[in-house]
Amino acid sequence: QVVLCWLRRDLRLDDNAALYHALKSGFPVVPVFVFDTNILNDLTDKHDRRVTFIYEVIEELQTELIKHKSSLDVFHGTPAAAFNHWISKYKVHAVYTNRDYEPYATERDTSVAGHLKEKGVEFFSYKDQVILDRNEVLKDNGNPYTIFTPYSRQWNNRLTAFHLKQYPVKKYLNKLHHQSKISLPSLTQLGFKEGEKHFPSKSLKESLIRHYDKTRDFPAINGTSRLGIHLRFGTISIRKLMQHALEWNETYAKELVWREFYQMIIWHFPHVVTQSFKKEYDKIAWRNNEKEFERWCTGTTGYPIVDAGMRELNTTGYMHNRVRMITASFLTKHLLIDWRWGEAYFAEKLLDYDLAANNGGWQWAAGSGCDAAPYFRVFNPTLQMQKFDKDLQYVRKWVPEFESPDYPLPVVSHEEARKRALEVYSKALKHS
Ligand code: FAD
Repeated sequence: QVVLCWLRRDLRLDDNAALYHALKSGFPVVPVFVFDTNILNDLTDKHDRRVTFIYEVIEELQTELIKHKSSLDVFHGTPAAAFNHWISKYKVHAVYTNRDYEPYATERDTSVAGHLKEKGVEFFSYKDQVILDRNEVLKDNGNPYTIFTPYSRQWNNRLTAFHLKQYPVKKYLNKLHHQSKISLPSLTQLGFKEGEKHFPSKSLKESLIRHYDKTRDFPAINGTSRLGIHLRFGTISIRKLMQHALEWNETYAKELVWREFYQMIIWHFPHVVTQSFKKEYDKIAWRNNEKEFERWCTGTTGYPIVDAGMRELNTTGYMHNRVRMITASFLTKHLLIDWRWGEAYFAEKLLDYDLAANNGGWQWAAGSGCDAAPYFRVFNPTLQMQKFDKDLQYVRKWVPEFESPDYPLPVVSHEEARKRALEVYSKALKHS
């Protein structure tokens, strides 16, 4: 008999909660991974760099496991088909996995667990991708928080040294099931081609993080950690990172708590995936002009800071947080385009795309989210540029023609757009 350790967004062997518990179960452990066609089939870009990233990480894990005389067992198909396959292949006692809080994932896990139960196989899930999850940070009345500041205060109250303790997985890797290498499906078999392979490093940049509070708001400075993609796929451990963050920079640690906040929101309020957190915001009469959306996507709105952000995103798969806020505000307020359009565009392009954080960021910008900026606060893109890119270094890098006659005129005037946004928003909210 063996137990399976199902890896998903925890693609590492060190400090991995589910793997640790599986290794301590007393049964040999087979690590498994599903290239899930329910997810892959929705990706339209066949050179999707996130698939390339995952593929590279899976190859590295395989190399590591082979050193321990073991092998990752990788399946291409649906999770249901994968478990049918593994149950017929191994004598499976139980499945160990780490929790994922997105609605698709929770439904998938409920269905897999139910299916396994019918076959007499147990399903155990663990907290791994956040420090505190689900109901660990609640208000005194037992309800989840919807405002960040009291949530983060309570998060800090709840935190103990135990929560940051790393799982000593390495010590137990001799408990892996010994078997010869199982070959991985190729990227082509998965229906993809190799995308550009230049990914942010996962090494912790101590001096950068120590200065984070002073540098993080300026897009021309390399002042943020770029660890988003590693947190998304679990190639670094949040426990290890948080421990350093708490020691090195309070502001940085707070950003990691924002990440937990949005994971908690999506768990308690899954309606946010398709609807506004505050339901009355779904009454807004979005203009949804496709030509203007196209100008936003291509970075040709005539507002240099907005265009620089969109071009950075289109070229690199990254956009600085300050500029994510500016471009998202511009789309929803200045152009009155439904936040879901922008959210979907970011989801397609961001290397660090994460449903909870992206949805949270977009609903914050649109004003429809929990703890969002009040709707009447409309970012002025020109003032934002003067404040956060005063030497125009970032703008010049991405929009070199912005001072030339070739640069388009603004798609809307700021003052008129602001007035229009206030009218449309207040009309929708008045009638709610
Ligand atoms: P750092 O500034 O170095 O922060 C470290 C880590 O903390 C990040 O990697 C991230 O995991 C977390 N973090 C930081 N800020 C936030 C935040 N506001 N909310 C949640 N987590 C945060 N973040 C994503 O990880 N994926 C997304 O898809 C995403 N979409 C966004 C969309 C919009 C409209 C906005 C306004 C923000 C979005 N963010 C998203 C949050 C933030 O912009 C990114 O996490 C950050 O820019 C990533 O760069 P970094 O890794 O250098 O972050």
